[in-house]
Amino acid sequence: MNQIQENLRRVQERIARAAERAGRTPESVELVAVTKTVPPEQINQAIQAGVTIIGENRVQEARQKKPEVLPVTWHMIGVLQTNKVKYAVQLFEMIQSVDRMPLALEIEKRCARENKVMPILVEVNTSGETSKSGCLPEEAPELIAQIAELKYLKIQGLMTVGLFSDDEKLVRPCFARLRNLAEKIRAMHLNNVRMDILSMGMSSDFEWAIEEGSTMVRIGTAIFGPRHYT
Ligand SMILES: *Cc1c(COP(=O)(O)O)cnc(C)c1O
Repeated sequence: MNQIQENLRRVQERIARAAERAGRTPESVELVAVTKTVPPEQINQAIQAGVTIIGENRVQEARQKKPEVLPVTWHMIGVLQTNKVKYAVQLFEMIQSVDRMPLALEIEKRCARENKVMPILVEVNTSGETSKSGCLPEEAPELIAQIAELKYLKIQGLMTVGLFSDDEKLVRPCFARLRNLAEKIRAMHLNNVRMDILSMGMSSDFEWAIEEGSTMVRIGTAIFGPRHYT
């Protein structure tokens, strides 16, 4: 087994155990392997070892790598500029980082041209850190109600990045906040809105996220090792 396969097995094992602690099945948590800065050869090793979804943060990087990557589902998880949307709707099967109406409208416009429906998650800033993207929790219901009116976007759930901290008492409330918000939105019974996916949890905090109800974890470092930015 190579290092990536070994890391992946360990991550899958930890996901399964966290799910069991939460009284859920391992299959109830999907794994998105986060491949930003990771070269195609290593991404392909992960795919050969069983990864079925990868997450990228940058449109440009995804465009460059995609021809060399084995067939797999691509999710956009990073900040998306409006002028990159036309490429994003071609590259990705899901956009997890929709956090403002102008972006949603641009996705609608580009998807209408391609006659393609785009599953999306609404990204919420649950940590209160000003450096983080995502709409504020109190803005989310109105934003979601507006996006629900669009024909080519399908809201599947919510996404968040937890507080950058190794203190469980500070990080877990971010995930609980996202879960509670999803429940509140579910209770609004909006047409065209599903709250099936809670995308939360990264290498440093995915077990806490799963215990708080995560259905999708986004993990890079724990699979591929530390990132080397160029
Ligand atoms: C980079 C990134 C991740 C993965 O982070 P790791 O700590 O490497 O697991 C997850 N989500 C988003 C939005 C990211 O940008």
